[in-house]
Amino acid sequence: MLTHNLGYPRIGSKRELKKVSEEYWSGKTTSKNLIQVAKNIRSQNWLLQKDIGIDLIPSNDFSLYDQVLDMSLMVGAIPKRFETLLSEKFSYLDVYYAMARGYQKDDHDIKAMEMTKWFDTNYHYIVPEFYEDQEFQLFSTKVIDEFYEAKELGILTKPVLIGPVSYILLGKEKEGNFDKTELLKKLIPVYIEIIEKLEALGVEWIQFDEPFLGLDLSDKEKNAYKEVYLILKSTFPKIKIMIATYFEGVTDNLSLIADDLLINALHIDLVRNPEQLGPVLNKLPDRIQLSLGVVDGRNIWKNEYQESLQLIFNTIKSRDKDTILIAPSCSLLHSPCDLDLEKGENIVLSDIKDWMAFAKQKLNEVVVLKQLALSKEQDEFLIKLENNIQSHTNRRNSKYIQNLKVKDRVSSISHKETHRDNSFKIRKELQEKELRLPFFPTTTIGSFPQTKAVRNWRYKYKKGELSLEEYNDHIKDEIRNAIDWQEKIDLDVLVHGEFERNDMVEYFGEQLEGFAFTKFGWVQSYGSRCVKPPIIYGSVDRLKAMTVDWTVFAQSLTSKLVKGMLTGPITILQWSFVRNDQPRSLTCKEIALAIRDEVKELEENGIKIIQIDEPALREGLPLRSKDWKAYLKWAIEAFKITATVVKNETQIHTHMCYSEFNDIIDDIARMDADVITIECSRSQMELLDAFKDFEYPNDIGPGVYDIHAPRIPNTSEIVDLMHKAQQYIPIRQLWVNPDCGLKTRGWKETEESLKAMVEAAKQLRVEMTQMV
Ligand code: GLN
Ligand code: ZN
Repeated sequence: MLTHNLGYPRIGSKRELKKVSEEYWSGKTTSKNLIQVAKNIRSQNWLLQKDIGIDLIPSNDFSLYDQVLDMSLMVGAIPKRFETLLSEKFSYLDVYYAMARGYQKDDHDIKAMEMTKWFDTNYHYIVPEFYEDQEFQLFSTKVIDEFYEAKELGILTKPVLIGPVSYILLGKEKEGNFDKTELLKKLIPVYIEIIEKLEALGVEWIQFDEPFLGLDLSDKEKNAYKEVYLILKSTFPKIKIMIATYFEGVTDNLSLIADDLLINALHIDLVRNPEQLGPVLNKLPDRIQLSLGVVDGRNIWKNEYQESLQLIFNTIKSRDKDTILIAPSCSLLHSPCDLDLEKGENIVLSDIKDWMAFAKQKLNEVVVLKQLALSKEQDEFLIKLENNIQSHTNRRNSKYIQNLKVKDRVSSISHKETHRDNSFKIRKELQEKELRLPFFPTTTIGSFPQTKAVRNWRYKYKKGELSLEEYNDHIKDEIRNAIDWQEKIDLDVLVHGEFERNDMVEYFGEQLEGFAFTKFGWVQSYGSRCVKPPIIYGSVDRLKAMTVDWTVFAQSLTSKLVKGMLTGPITILQWSFVRNDQPRSLTCKEIALAIRDEVKELEENGIKIIQIDEPALREGLPLRSKDWKAYLKWAIEAFKITATVVKNETQIHTHMCYSEFNDIIDDIARMDADVITIECSRSQMELLDAFKDFEYPNDIGPGVYDIHAPRIPNTSEIVDLMHKAQQYIPIRQLWVNPDCGLKTRGWKETEESLKAMVEAAKQLRVEMTQMV
């Protein structure tokens, strides 16, 4: 029985890679230094895993930016627009980072490759681009170099490659009319070339990540799998090929794997899908070793040894021990590095630390599980098992989890609490009387620029250099300015600007019961960007108001309407590490009730418009389409619990950050927000497509300009976009707004853009009176 790992976090336990990358990009450090820091991280990771006792340690799991981009460079899938950078003047790093981040220097202006989410994680990868005349050739030897580098350290690693089929399926056909799976014929020779070189260096195992084997596959894709692994195995009979699946179960692709794939080992994710073990044990022939992914690679909780051992013992009953491997469920890329760095400065965290495990601790768990599975009676390991049982008992009995008040509230939510008293039609009439807004009302999505000054005050306040009062005074000044300025440019519905928030989830998490925050719990999101998700460890409860003072203060400064601004339950859930001892849907309900209390209190304090942001609704969709319905049911119910507590006259807004919502538009309509603002300026037509077949019943503000770039839109293009919208959506339903919050923008662009937007709305109103 072997232990192995699928991948280790590469950002560095203190985000060393982030820091050096950003310094390199801004010209503050040399490529030599960057390469050295990267090398140090790799060797530290390898040695650490060796120390812990992992038998098969991965290599090529490191990446300077993204592992999919690395593959594109390995096989030379470099889009033509970067070819000018392939001359001698530019380095490999220039080309690499240009593909990731674009290249705007001298007289070049080359657009970066697209980025998208890695399955249902918060990691984003660079999407391979394929063209009709696509050719592949060995371009980067990174995988070989790193294998060699580890070998020099005395470690014979298991190189990790994205399997050819998954690599192709992760990409996008860019131009021309062709089917990307046909490219495999041209791609495989490059893989063969690479593997030959690895074989020459003495490689024993190679891990091919094939997460698509856990998803719905067409017959054509299944055939592709068959052919690819037939070729690879017949070319390299001596190399042990492991296929790694994760994030979902392989159940319905099991005959393909068991009967048709010539591989030596299969890794399955038993955290996400423990039910697949039975069918896998039934079907998988003994010639294919089985890697059990029992330690959760995507969350931060300590493994429950007894449960994992159950799975391992079941496996031992049905196959030889020597054909079993133990591993984390997926690459540890999605876990923070090292719990030992948390020194328990914060009280809750020190209480719950014993329930948790980060990447380093998880590998330890893998090793202990193997020992426990093999030699049950060794004292050293029996003590570890007992300690583990004790931690879980403590957790189950903890006061943090046994909050009866929250439990009662959740279990007694009635039908009435998830539906507003009256239909939108009736509400709309009452709201028109109450709010007296013009046609084409203008508003923003909530945040205004978070300038250096604002962040600096927060930093000083957190370090104790500013008193709470001083800090609050600064925030108040910002709000005052923002309100004055919004009045001056004549926006209709104002916002306070969110200056007090570092992050739209963290801000609420910090004030709610049941959330903890780490100091070093960073996880890579993309490139050098990391996130530090809050940890939801217990019952979520709201003991005090969170936004009421700021909103009421802002409203007191103006006779115009100020919109309250909250983050919704689905987004808070989605962007946190969530407790694993109860269903996500239940935790989401607890959050929904907490945010509902805030909605109610805002209303009681005279706030007439309240926005509940749900930018993460779509990304919570399960990977398998058969599971969508159940998710949407509880997610939308949670939103409605939050939103339906108000009276008819109070207007509820929501905001979402994506344009492809055609496939879930009727679910979004069921949320029954009075107004939805949605990102869509980058693909206006796509969004409007949704309205051809579906009459969206409530009010809607299709974002009229892209806030992700500093570019300032002009009035006429905004008017044009709104004209397009009018073809599908009745004028009385339309709002005018940017497509997301303005937090990352500078004030100058913000001012000019919003002026153009307000001007556009005014023109539209004039047009309207002329029409009548
Ligand atoms: N209200 C938030 C803001 O304006 C919404 C951010 C988001 O959609 N991601 O920043
Ligand atoms: Zn947004």
